[in-house]
Amino acid sequence: MTDCLHLHLNTTLTPHLPHHGRLDCLDCGKFVGWAKKPETLIREQENEVKIKRLAEILPQLGEWEREFVGSLKRQGAKISPRQQEKLDQIFKSTKHLSTKSPYHDHH
Ligand SMILES: [Zn+2]
Repeated sequence: MTDCLHLHLNTTLTPHLPHHGRLDCLDCGKFVGWAKKPETLIREQENEVKIKRLAEILPQLGEWEREFVGSLKRQGAKISPRQQEKLDQIFKSTKHLSTKSPYHDHH
């Protein structure tokens, strides 16, 4: 056992694998996980923003959309291509809605 938090990661690109690269801890040398493609990271960040924004206008959405956004929130940014399509669709169709909510002041 080690109490290393693996805070300093080294990314080694793995073009021979389906993964973008591997992450190893510089401190203890442990394999920590697979690195995501830069475009995947960007998409996940965008999804987080989209899901957050949809969560803010949740009361204004239909029942199906509310459920969909709720399931995405539980699932996190990793979503299937089908969910991605739906998310983009809902996001686009709700662009005009105001994000103003009574909870806004708490940030
Ligand atoms: Zn470590």
